[in-house]
Amino acid sequence: MSKLKVGILGATGAVGQRFVQLLADHPWFEIVALAASEQSAGRKYGAAVHWVLERDVPAAVREQEIIRATPEQLRGCCSLLFSALPADQARFLEPELAAAGFAVFSNASAYRMEEDVPLLIPEVNPEHAALIRMQQAKRHWPGFIVTNPNCSTTHLAGVLKPLHDAFHLRKVLVVTMQAASGAGYPGVSFMDLLDNVVPYIPGEEQKLESEPRKLLGQFAGDHIVPADFIISAHANRVAVRDGHTEVVSLEFQHRPAVAEVVDILRTFRGLPQRLQLPTAPPRPIIVLAENDRPQPLRDRMRGRGMANIVGRVRECPLFHIKLVLLGHNTIRGAAGGSILNAELLARQGYFPDFTPDSDYTGAAS
Ligand code: NAP
Repeated sequence: MSKLKVGILGATGAVGQRFVQLLADHPWFEIVALAASEQSAGRKYGAAVHWVLERDVPAAVREQEIIRATPEQLRGCCSLLFSALPADQARFLEPELAAAGFAVFSNASAYRMEEDVPLLIPEVNPEHAALIRMQQAKRHWPGFIVTNPNCSTTHLAGVLKPLHDAFHLRKVLVVTMQAASGAGYPGVSFMDLLDNVVPYIPGEEQKLESEPRKLLGQFAGDHIVPADFIISAHANRVAVRDGHTEVVSLEFQHRPAVAEVVDILRTFRGLPQRLQLPTAPPRPIIVLAENDRPQPLRDRMRGRGMANIVGRVRECPLFHIKLVLLGHNTIRGAAGGSILNAELLARQGYFPDFTPDSDYTGAAS
């Protein structure tokens, strides 16, 4: 099977590096283009990037020349782009690329809440992908934009999904403790973060309060009707390298038993698991029994960074249930989530020139 050629926009940043790492040995996709800003363009990737991940820069891309993220530079080399651009750049570059025929899988917030743009997590709302055809018709684009949510939202919505289906959510209170890598590279300075908690992340609480309602909303043919529960969010930056922790209290239509909640989380499987997509973890939610887990240092790489890890499920005296949640922000919360979206659409026939190998069963353990 020949692989689908892909490009990475913002390839030198915190999320771009994860894309490079996760795609280096991907069974369906092959990196052929790396794009970044003017300051990196024209340089070899290995020399231009300040690599912050575990293991070395993959050999296959070290000598690749970085280009600019424009249709002119990218045309002819690939049709699928993974975007890790800052939102202000994504706002004007991504539509230009979709208009030029590229399928853009974006991590940026710029288009997440647009009515005709899917905000997608394959285990949560795969049916929302149908918005793509509407978007193409309305905007006269041969290509399209698909977004994945804010990193904290991704983990939260992944856990709310089966609980909302079973018990109908009414209220969510979430307090996040977000890792340094969530601010990109170089991000928050060492002097500001070490020995400290910063109780404000610009724009984060609004995203956490709005995006899950779109994700868990009903697809109504040509738009999404947002889910009707209320969310209150507090976002904090903490001195952790990778992995966002979230403490969550939930109120439902009726109070469920703790054992029922645990059982529903443990047994939940989504479409990516049924389709055995290469990046799908066998268990999208892992529930830990120990009182002092999950912890970022110990648990963030479960399911190769693609699982949402839950612990301390217990009764809440204010609402009904409370729990602790952990997710890897640059893997499930960014690059890995975006790759899973592309795998889903590839399997659903959105790339007519590419037929994924249906025998591949590479699910992350
Ligand atoms: P980052 O570390 O600051 O990286 C930004 C990247 O964009 C760099 O590769 C930079 O290239 C490139 N860039 C900047 N201006 C550009 C331009 N005009 N044209 C082309 N490339 C340009 O940021 P990040 O943390 O990776 O975040 C990337 C996106 O993902 C953001 O929209 C962010 O909100 C979103 N996101 C991040 C996370 C996370 O955990 N970090 C999670 C979810 C979503 P140079 O190196 O050449 O400057």
